[in-house]
Amino acid sequence: MELSDLQREQDFSIAEQVNTDRLHQLFRQSVSAVIGSYLAALMLCGLCWDRFDHGDAYGWLVLLTGSTLLRIAMFVAYFRSDERERTPRRWERTYWATLVLSAGIWGAGAFVVMPADDLLAQALVMLFTVGMSVSAVSCYSAYRYMTLVSMALVLLPCTLWLLWQPTTLQVGMALAVLVFASFVARATRKMSDALEAAFRLTREMERAHNISRLAAQTDELTGLNNRRAFFERAQQLFEDCRRNHLSLCAVMLDMDHFKHINDTYGHQVGDRVLRQMGGIIGTCLRDKDVHGRLGGEEFAILLPDTSIERALEMLEALIATMPRVMTGPVHRITASLGVAAMGAGDGDLHSLMNNADKALYRAKALGRNQIAVADPA
Ligand code: GH3
Ligand code: MG
Ligand code: MG
Repeated sequence: MELSDLQREQDFSIAEQVNTDRLHQLFRQSVSAVIGSYLAALMLCGLCWDRFDHGDAYGWLVLLTGSTLLRIAMFVAYFRSDERERTPRRWERTYWATLVLSAGIWGAGAFVVMPADDLLAQALVMLFTVGMSVSAVSCYSAYRYMTLVSMALVLLPCTLWLLWQPTTLQVGMALAVLVFASFVARATRKMSDALEAAFRLTREMERAHNISRLAAQTDELTGLNNRRAFFERAQQLFEDCRRNHLSLCAVMLDMDHFKHINDTYGHQVGDRVLRQMGGIIGTCLRDKDVHGRLGGEEFAILLPDTSIERALEMLEALIATMPRVMTGPVHRITASLGVAAMGAGDGDLHSLMNNADKALYRAKALGRNQIAVADPA
């Protein structure tokens, strides 16, 4: 992939990646909420068992069991799904639906079980609903509106009812809850903004790192591997072929009379020819081949799992495309190539490349515009 392509692709996808990061954060952060909210309801019913209507409490717990199981099923499906499938498009709506359902059941159920004539039970119910809404902040902070909606669904039914009661104690309790909730609601914006900024920065740093890594490996003029990247990849390939007993051919390619091209047509035309040569090398070879510009008008290629006969066929085809691809003022552009097959005597990559280089000199000495094969080691 070229540098500019990478930049464009990454610019486009950073917003998408941030959204995906938020979703991952949401799922990781809220696993405990599923069990926690169920346990909170159980505990509340346990504490107030003598004060609640048993039928209402059972009904509430049955509905909560259903919604909790539904959420657990969603979490299992999410964590079992392929990493690439965990996208906001695929999961956000499902998450919203189960969240609204379970928070709605929690808030409405708390309102139904709360006895109208028992102040202590009312205070306990309010204590739990406030606790639930504070937990919502810690669980859904990546999604501000999820926090707000779940807080509202859990808190509002009981709070609004208390607000319309005759005693100052009840109204005061409701007002206090509303004041606490408004503080928490304000904090949710800062939390979700901070999380989003952290995700964005991480992704941008990752992008900058990828771009600079690629720039350090790429030859600016041709877009091929530069000398350093070529030798790094070539070394890897050499070792792989050795280990797996595969054949390997090394090729050195040098443009003929390139100085003459520069002198006659100018350096810019020379550069264009080099770019075109880079394009030919980049497109004519296979994915598994390693190639690069070593400097000047010199290129190197490694062909793994390739016999010398097959290598010659490939290189003939490569040379044959040169006149077709290279257009412009230069009439005839040729190159000389040296090929060497890895033999038992090639203990390291440099000895193999050396053999190809010697063959290249022979091709030059024999009159250029040809391929010379190194003597078997
Ligand atoms: P030979 O057939 O023997 O290889 O002759 P040559 O002229 O190709 O070889 P020589 O090594 O004498 O000259 C290489 C030339 O390549 C000299 C240099 O100006 C030119 N060159 C090296 N790097 C670049 C480059 O990045 N752009 C351009 N336009 N020319 C370059
Ligand atoms: Mg040359
Ligand atoms: Mg040269």
